[in-house]
Amino acid sequence: MHNEIYLDGNATSCVLPAAIDAALDMMGQRFGNPSSSHGAGLQARVVLEQTRERAQRLLGVGNGRLMFNSGATEGIQTALLSALVALRERQALGEACGNLLVYGATEHKAVPESLAHWNRVLGLNLTLTALPVDGDGLHDLAALRALAPSAALICTMAANNETGVISDLAAIEQVIVQSGTRACWLVDCVQALGKIDIDLAATRIDYAPFSGHKLYAPKGVGMLYVRAGAPFTPLIMGGGQEAGWRSGTENMAGIAALGTVLEALERGDTFRSHDELAGFRVRLAEALRAALPGVVFNNRFDKSLPTTLNFSVPGIASRELVDVFDAARVRVSAGSACSAKKAAPSYVLDAMGLPLWRSAGAIRMSFGALIDDATITDACARIARCGDALRASCLIASGPDADPAPPDGLLQLGVEGACSWLVFDAASRSCVVLDPLPELAERIAAYVRCQQYQVLAILGSTAGAPDAGLVAALGEHYQAQLDYDAHGWPLQANAQVTLEDGTPAAMLRLGKQVLARVQTTQDVCAWLLGVSEADRLPAAQVRFAFCARAAHSMPALCDGQTLLCPTREEHNQLCERISTSPEDMISADMQLDRQAVDALLQAHPGAVLVDVREPYEAAATVMPGVQLARSVPLSRLVEHASLWLQDDQRTPLVFVCRSGNRSLKAAQCLRRLGHPHSYSLNGGLALAA
Ligand code: PLP
Repeated sequence: MHNEIYLDGNATSCVLPAAIDAALDMMGQRFGNPSSSHGAGLQARVVLEQTRERAQRLLGVGNGRLMFNSGATEGIQTALLSALVALRERQALGEACGNLLVYGATEHKAVPESLAHWNRVLGLNLTLTALPVDGDGLHDLAALRALAPSAALICTMAANNETGVISDLAAIEQVIVQSGTRACWLVDCVQALGKIDIDLAATRIDYAPFSGHKLYAPKGVGMLYVRAGAPFTPLIMGGGQEAGWRSGTENMAGIAALGTVLEALERGDTFRSHDELAGFRVRLAEALRAALPGVVFNNRFDKSLPTTLNFSVPGIASRELVDVFDAARVRVSAGSACSAKKAAPSYVLDAMGLPLWRSAGAIRMSFGALIDDATITDACARIARCGDALRASCLIASGPDADPAPPDGLLQLGVEGACSWLVFDAASRSCVVLDPLPELAERIAAYVRCQQYQVLAILGSTAGAPDAGLVAALGEHYQAQLDYDAHGWPLQANAQVTLEDGTPAAMLRLGKQVLARVQTTQDVCAWLLGVSEADRLPAAQVRFAFCARAAHSMPALCDGQTLLCPTREEHNQLCERISTSPEDMISADMQLDRQAVDALLQAHPGAVLVDVREPYEAAATVMPGVQLARSVPLSRLVEHASLWLQDDQRTPLVFVCRSGNRSLKAAQCLRRLGHPHSYSLNGGLALAA
């Protein structure tokens, strides 16, 4: 019932069942080498040539060549090597060739990276020049007109992998032809195969790489078209397969599978029509609009493949969206698959001139032409579920009736090696914001508004007015008209507390907790948070110390149990102690696989399994699968760490999360703090399930 919904078709596709059968047949029955002259070889050869003929018909190859290879990255290498070797030969003859290697600014990295590589290896010293695109992602034809006369090579993809934007190849061709340039023209057709009509020999295109795994064939098989008369230099030499153009025994299982997919394309009875796919996209877009208020689409539907949506949601990072969709078993990707691990902005959306929040927060949702109506219906329901989960966790605005359980204690919000803290008191619905990063202003304000808290102070470790964006976004939840000192400390709060060294400090009361202000240097502030009902805050009662660097700058005021909470988390650590544990505690035996976790839980029935995923992920989860003892989001870990450390028994803690990254971070933190029995489920829940 809660099947996986795979909406990452531009990264790869599953394999068509008939193509799996064909591949199995090639590996089982017809395993011969197509170069062998005996019967077994001849049987394989028939499949090889039938597949080639089919591709030649489908792609309109004409007198050109079509060779099989391992995929588009190889095809791109071969094409670029061929074009650049020919250029070098022309240069050696003293012919005037252009000096620019022009590539579309939104090309797949395989193109510019390979261009730079072969330019260097061949010692050509040509200049790589990105051809700009407009706000819709279409190539700037005026710029191409200006560059073409100096171009030695031109690369413009047919359809973009992140946005699905379909290039105007006819217009590009016109500019190239009119410029009279002799530059070779490479068109990466990976995302276009099966989705756009292609008639290669009728164009000026010199090279066109294709990849099987984007269209229901397996990974590791692809094709390269080379126009008749276009320069060619083999990338791989050897036994002379593929007429000597690409040596190495052919990947017959892959080729047979690809042949089956091409046959289905030719028959026209397997894949859905453009209009049906466009209708599915409209339904997904409507579901996204309803679930995620403010969602913006980064691709124009009338200019892109009907199978691709690319969107951003204000105030929500792409990582968070991927996490929540993944919990709902909807597989989408952040930007492009290759860069999904990094939270880097998408260079494709950057090239389109989109603002940073959109290019850094983008999600690509893409599907294949085999998708069915029921899957789309199910996907729309899961999208609604993700919206509800984000709403319940205050990541998107909730309706007036919502009343999420008020948080208590610490919340850590982080971006890229720096973080901000919020200290909540649920009983009084008041909180303090410590060192808010401007990037987090909207997030902090949304959280405070949604939880209906009052912000007592916005404190900065260095002097300066609080971020105007945050103040504006907080509105009535922060009393901006009151008097604050240069660090945001409210001057009305004139209560004082005596610290360990006997000095008095200004303090704010948050329920039973006391927040004391400490001037560490002339212009840097730090804060101590502890439990005190009297007017003293001895070191032993300081639970947390917040300082701009995880400096051990206040040893006199804290004790060994105090957790140092850096507002600049430079080493990606959640928190520290004055005396951290030796590094060897951190590395050894910390990551456990599923079996080892089971064994540990059996040996230690009291061990605690801790899910460090954020609440919206838990809320969106459609397959509870693992019965988890406790949910402690990573953003709330520090609060709980302080309690776990008070447990003298050192009960084993096993952290789990989606992929194993956050749980590892949690386990490392606990070990560093001196809890030797902290572990992480290696590979995360994805593997455990
Ligand atoms: N070009 C584009 C547009 C792509 O989307 C991809 C795959 O991500 C490639 C090239 C590389 O293809 P392959 O995985 O076959 O090497």
